[in-house]
Amino acid sequence: MMWEGCGVYGVRVKRGDALPYLYWGLLAQNHRGHQSYGFAVYNSGIKVFRELGLIPPILHLGSKPGIGELSGRVGIGNVRYATSGACDEASLRRDAMPIHISHGGNSIAISLNGNIVNVKSLREEFGNAGSDAHIICRMLLYGIQEEGSLEEGIRRCMERMEGSFSIIGLTGEGTLFAFKDPYGFKPLCYGRGGDADAFSSESVGLDINGMERMGEIQPGELLMVNGSSLSREQLIPCRRRAFCAFEFAYFARPDSIFDDRYVYEVRRDFGVNLASRYSETASRCDMVISLPETANDAAYGFHEESGLPWEMATRRHRYVTQRAFIMGAEDRKNIIYRKVNILKSRIAGKRIAVVDDSIVRGDTTRSAVKRLREAGAKEIHLFITFPRIVGPCFYGVDMATYGELIGARMTPEEIAEELGADSVNYQPIEDYVRATGMKMEDLCLGCVTGEYPTPTANMLAREMRERILRGEKEQGRIYELLD
Ligand code: SF4
Repeated sequence: MMWEGCGVYGVRVKRGDALPYLYWGLLAQNHRGHQSYGFAVYNSGIKVFRELGLIPPILHLGSKPGIGELSGRVGIGNVRYATSGACDEASLRRDAMPIHISHGGNSIAISLNGNIVNVKSLREEFGNAGSDAHIICRMLLYGIQEEGSLEEGIRRCMERMEGSFSIIGLTGEGTLFAFKDPYGFKPLCYGRGGDADAFSSESVGLDINGMERMGEIQPGELLMVNGSSLSREQLIPCRRRAFCAFEFAYFARPDSIFDDRYVYEVRRDFGVNLASRYSETASRCDMVISLPETANDAAYGFHEESGLPWEMATRRHRYVTQRAFIMGAEDRKNIIYRKVNILKSRIAGKRIAVVDDSIVRGDTTRSAVKRLREAGAKEIHLFITFPRIVGPCFYGVDMATYGELIGARMTPEEIAEELGADSVNYQPIEDYVRATGMKMEDLCLGCVTGEYPTPTANMLAREMRERILRGEKEQGRIYELLD
């Protein structure tokens, strides 16, 4: 499993306070980041509250010092997992979003989902303190001051950054804005409900506030909410669409909508594809099960297509909420033990089709296979909805090196042996893309094809492979070391 960047939210209400909308909109998206959360609200100036961990129940939040000051009609918020910057507690506190800075009488706050690939050179220019969001925030504020307008400042910023960025921001004058990189890597939609306009990473953040999804922000587009008016402008041309294909398999909630389809429907089709593509292996099995929650919908599709009974032989400990891949390495090793319980007598002596969303490092899958063996499974065949991951991600999913990716080092047969399974059956890329309903050329598939949509990412990938061939050890996130 691996890690994703963040969930973002922004809202302007006609009456009352923005904070309850921010709270519920982000709570619905807490799966996108567990390390910290935060809100920034405008009311004659920007006030910010940021804290580590999951968003707490509303009663607990209400008693936290500082939260009572966040009264105002417009605000932004964030739930974060670190894909840039360090992960010690002090760094996580410093990098929690929204980031807010003031300079020369102006101020701005931003909430980012994404990752900047050419971050090293931007750091040299804008200072080295903290995560990508600190640099972007500074770039934006200086850009706005020098260009004399919010739009021109954002345009300049968009032109200089390479990578994925879906950003919601708030100016010191109370203007709410949202924009997306010219490739559209990360989701960001907007919606309206009687009294409010909102931006959200996923549509579930609109649903929970009773709002209607109006559409997706387009690559290179800027939307601004000023007073009661909403404006949109194509600030820079879309270079090519490159929506992160992995959103469909893992990150998003099944009840979110991308490109007019529920993620649930896409995942169900993944399962249908796997059962049909590997019908011979499926026919060897007595039952199908899913391990993590994200694979439930695919397991259902697999069951429908194969006719195998879908056994609910694995159950989640409901209050163990961490997603294995949004965790540190040591915790990740044990999380599957703590998160999932197995109904042993339903497994004993059976040949089992296990549907899973992805294999990144292989550690959680290895633990799961071990537990099924201990429960007496006779055969274990893994059906993986996301195609084999053969390269790192430079756009905000924390799988930064070739060495950590089991799929970059081994064939499916070797992976099966390494994990203790009888077979590993990946969904082919063409089947995966077909199920999403999107065109191949509109998706980023860099980590499964090795071909990245942006030039610096391709250069970094090539450099990493050459260093490995020279026998050099990988040093973590290469985009933080060179560009
Ligand atoms: S490289 Fe993979 S995980 Fe990263 S943005 Fe592209 S598809 Fe998503």
